[in-house]
Amino acid sequence: MSSLPSLLSMMSQLIATPSISCSQASWDQSNKGVILLLENWLSSQGFQCEVMPLPGQPDKMNLIATIGQGAGGLVLSGHTDTVPYDDDRWQSDPFKLEERDNKLYGLGTCDMKGFFAIVLDTLRDMDLSKLKQPLIILATADEESSMDGARALVEAGRPKARYALIGEPTSLTPIHAHKGIMMEKVRITGKAGHSSNPGLGNNALDAMHSVMSELMVYRHGLKEKYRDANFVIDYPTMNFGCIHGGDNPNRICGRCELEFDIRALPGMSNESLYQEIRNLLPAIERQTNTQIELHHLFADVPSFSTAKESDIIKACERLTQKEATTVAFATEGPFLNQLGMETLILGPGSIDQAHQPNEFMALDQIVPMQHVIKGLVERYCLTPSTENK
Ligand SMILES: [Zn+2]
Repeated sequence: MSSLPSLLSMMSQLIATPSISCSQASWDQSNKGVILLLENWLSSQGFQCEVMPLPGQPDKMNLIATIGQGAGGLVLSGHTDTVPYDDDRWQSDPFKLEERDNKLYGLGTCDMKGFFAIVLDTLRDMDLSKLKQPLIILATADEESSMDGARALVEAGRPKARYALIGEPTSLTPIHAHKGIMMEKVRITGKAGHSSNPGLGNNALDAMHSVMSELMVYRHGLKEKYRDANFVIDYPTMNFGCIHGGDNPNRICGRCELEFDIRALPGMSNESLYQEIRNLLPAIERQTNTQIELHHLFADVPSFSTAKESDIIKACERLTQKEATTVAFATEGPFLNQLGMETLILGPGSIDQAHQPNEFMALDQIVPMQHVIKGLVERYCLTPSTENK
């Protein structure tokens, strides 16, 4: 095997290769540079590498790197993109890895390019020619914006393995569940007119009042019906985020828009929630003589849950000496679960530093993460028991 660069050299190269993904086109960049670095290093270690451009987005791509064969095995997964950055709030160059106070600073150090460098550095000491089940390194595109990379993998039905770990920053705590996210917009079109005579128009703000009342009743119903003690906020939430409508007090409001999000618990279906909300609207349309539409602002992310009894959850609880818990952020976990893999989220660095100026990974996260990776590769790929094949 040809030799790999040092851990810090790999991390610096990944950080120095911009791969911002953003729903604003002015920020959005290709992730090709990061994929090529990983492909190069993984190939040098004997992995078969497959670069998969996303449908209709040739400069965005996933990488599936596989070594070994079998129906079981392990996926170690991460996203290659980062969020945008506030240049004037960084104390150092976000694209230059800098070590200060036992921390590694740079955009993507903890979220989550650093994870790939740690994985590669761990594997260098392991004899991968002896694998009994496959080890797959998965690197995805656009997790921070659309999750289109993970969605494309579900479409393609790949990769397949028995277990998966996503190395998002969880301060080395195993995560077995998170809520889903959907973001929706209600648009009401009425009819404007002079305010002196209500009969001259159909007021979209009046109609929005009815919509919001119905949604609040619906929200209360969800809270009554669904509880999950695994979460700090143990019920599904709905937040009214913004409202825009009308122009002048002496005009009947002709148009009004409301944007809201819903964070569903595991076991709830985003699609059902959407349909139930849709079904509330026709009665209000009739009463108010308006037209009411419901639109997705973004494609939804399903809730994520892996059974706490799953072998990989138990194994990671032992390796970290920490009990599995839940988080308030969303990941690609539900998509990997849809592919049939028992998935958990566990990685170095803290989510408190992610998406912030001066993002860092503390150096003390590295060795314990390597211990987890080594333990999982041994358990599921090198010496798998019959139950784990
Ligand atoms: Zn992330």
